[in-house]
Amino acid sequence: MDCIFCRIVAGTVPSFKVYEDSAALAFMDINPLAPGHVLVIPKRHAPNLWEIEDGSLRETMAAARRVALAMKTALGLDSLNLVQANGPWALQSVDHLHFHLVPRREGDGVPLDWFLTPGDHDKIKALAAKIASALPALP
Ligand code: AMP
Ligand code: ZN
Repeated sequence: MDCIFCRIVAGTVPSFKVYEDSAALAFMDINPLAPGHVLVIPKRHAPNLWEIEDGSLRETMAAARRVALAMKTALGLDSLNLVQANGPWALQSVDHLHFHLVPRREGDGVPLDWFLTPGDHDKIKALAAKIASALPALP
């Protein structure tokens, strides 16, 4: 499989590595949305949130938290976005699951902000029931 992030895990494509353990790897995004933008990935290939195995996800998320704590200290942050994209309309451009850790500062202009618009409660309720009825069984 030709996956750029698997190549980074294998060391055949260079990266600016921040953290590594047996299950996860964190490295700098080469097109940073803000200074200090880090990506955290599972070492075992999974294309997206739907397809990753629970144990690998847990370990990757624990790594993301460790790196976020390091960013908080090292960069003097009080704000950070955790962002993750699945599929073309979410603008996923690399089909190996990755979590973006994006440092945020007042007035930084990072295009992740949206304004709250109240929804229709009947529609919200109906969608809650529809989603809840489709939950997969616990492993
Ligand atoms: P997404 O659009 O959520 O799939 O994000 C993919 C991210 O991977 C983008 O922010 C890219 O800048 C980043 N990226 C792609 N190739 C590399 C690479 N070789 N090293 C570091 N970051 C990369
Ligand atoms: Zn991969």
